[in-house]
Amino acid sequence: MLTKLRGHHLICLNFFRGEGYSEDFIKNIYSVISKENVEIVAGPDDVCARCPYLKDNKCSNNDYTDEKILHQDREALRLLRLKPGEIIDWRMISAKLPGIMDKWKAQFCQDCGYLKVCFTG
Ligand code: SF4
Repeated sequence: MLTKLRGHHLICLNFFRGEGYSEDFIKNIYSVISKENVEIVAGPDDVCARCPYLKDNKCSNNDYTDEKILHQDREALRLLRLKPGEIIDWRMISAKLPGIMDKWKAQFCQDCGYLKVCFTG
C-alpha cells in the first residue's frame, strides 16, 4: 500500500496525535499513515487532498503561504536526503529523524500552531 506525501509531511506526520483541521481531514490522515510505503511528491499530497485549505492546488492556510510550505518541503527533503519520486517506508523515515530534528525544530517548529501537540504531553 502506497501513499503520496510532500516533504514536510514526512517529518510532521511522525508527531500526529489525532489533531487536525476537520474530522474528514483527521480521518484521512489515519488512512495515510496506515500505508506502509510513501512516494515522495513535490507539491500537494494525499494529506492536502482532504484539507480545507487546499485551493487551486495551492496551500491557502492563513498561517502560512504556499511559498513557505514549498520551502519547508524542500528543506525537509534536504535534511532527510530524499527527493521527489523516491519510494520509501516509514521505518526509513523515522530512523532519520533523530539526526535532523534539532535543525528542523529550530527552523520551523517555534512558529507552528502544532508545537504543543508535537512536543508536549
Ligand atoms: S495546510 Fe496546506 S500543506 Fe497543510 S495539509 Fe492543508 S493544504 Fe496541505
